[in-house]
Amino acid sequence: MAYTFSGGIHVEEFKNTKKCRIEALPPPSSVSISLAQHIGAPAEACVSVGDTVGIGQKIGDLPEGMLGCPVHASVSGRVKSITKKVQSSGAAAECVEIENDFLDTVWQDVRPMEKKLADVTTDEIVSVVREAGIVGMGGAAFPTWAKIKSAIGKVDRIIVNGAECEPFITANHRLMLERPASLINGVKILLKALGVRTAYIAVEDNKPDVIEKLEELVAQSSMISVRVVKTKYPQGDERQLVYALTGREIPAGKLPADVGCVVFNAETCAAIYRAFADGMPCVSRIVTVDGDCVRHPKNLLVPIGTSVRELIEFCGGLTREPSRLINGGPMMGTAQWDTEMPVTKSTSAVLLFSDRFGRKNAASASCIRCGRCIANCPMRLMPMYIAQFSKIGDMKRAEEYGAMSCVECGSCSYNCPGGVEIVQYIRVAKAAIKTERARAAADAAKREDR
Ligand code: SF4
Ligand code: SF4
Repeated sequence: MAYTFSGGIHVEEFKNTKKCRIEALPPPSSVSISLAQHIGAPAEACVSVGDTVGIGQKIGDLPEGMLGCPVHASVSGRVKSITKKVQSSGAAAECVEIENDFLDTVWQDVRPMEKKLADVTTDEIVSVVREAGIVGMGGAAFPTWAKIKSAIGKVDRIIVNGAECEPFITANHRLMLERPASLINGVKILLKALGVRTAYIAVEDNKPDVIEKLEELVAQSSMISVRVVKTKYPQGDERQLVYALTGREIPAGKLPADVGCVVFNAETCAAIYRAFADGMPCVSRIVTVDGDCVRHPKNLLVPIGTSVRELIEFCGGLTREPSRLINGGPMMGTAQWDTEMPVTKSTSAVLLFSDRFGRKNAASASCIRCGRCIANCPMRLMPMYIAQFSKIGDMKRAEEYGAMSCVECGSCSYNCPGGVEIVQYIRVAKAAIKTERARAAADAAKREDR
């Protein structure tokens, strides 16, 4: 029987690209690489306009120990500009634009790890992962070196997130099918780094081809096993995965490591292996391009910094005018306003939808007290109350009702018969609560200084 969690929803899958092999996007004529495409402090440019760079060369870094990641060139060529640009999040960040010389020159320092895995220390693994600029590639973009470091000595389980529960996205599906050895070797590196003896690769039961392939490859392993999880949204949320596979509940405000688990995305594991085997940092990723406006939906291997427009063109262009462009999945992704937006390390999908898709917001949305949002909430919250408190600006009550425990999965809004924009209201509440907490912390610090 497949493992699962309570709550959640069954959404139509639309995994149209699950049989589309990963195709390498032809190198773009230029890339625009953000120095702030990870959680933490932005990197600072360590190249100058006019410099010649090679693939894998570090173009941005920040002091060691500070939360963040180095950033690397994804094509070889000349640094054309270093300017601030608006990112997919809406915030502005410095971007390094590189004009491709199409020579594909690999940077001289890109070379495989010389030591065998058995001889490598935890510190060396953390250092390689940091220097490779690897982040959570499922969308979180949390620096992987920091996640490994914070889990050392605290965890007894590694969970690989291969659930891919968002509709449309099949990037991880294809990775697990076409590059399973990279994934498994990445898991072995993580087992060694954390001194752990158990790793579960979680795959939803709608991917029998992946399950068969991975089970065959780990059949002889006493440490790595495949765990089949139920196809249900948001099965890929860290908290739901940890509960489904171990029965451990993560208390509000705590992390998986606080209950002995650490979760890594499937593509992140493959990137770790690549950093060891080839010495190549995180300079490309797999992106699903789909939606009812895309002529030929595909899974593409894309250099980081490529504009979304190039992906769309490679997929044969558009069949109709899109009303929405989404970076990520339709449930948790963010709407974009410009196809010049560059792909980052956390862009798992680019989706273009016409008005035929999705629900129109009701002009007179109102709660009919059906309780469906409560039944669907995987965090066992009462979403309609939090939304109502947020709507009237009572953020204190919203906080009391657990707004900060909301993982913003959207299960509550998905089939609310009243058309209430529940998750949007909760997001507003969370932002207000965070601002208030930061203000209170700053005030407290000031008082201590006096
Ligand atoms: S699902 Fe919508 S209508 Fe039903 S209780 Fe929740 S907010 Fe109200
Ligand atoms: S309240 Fe938050 S966690 Fe619960 S269903 Fe809604 S978005 Fe998901």
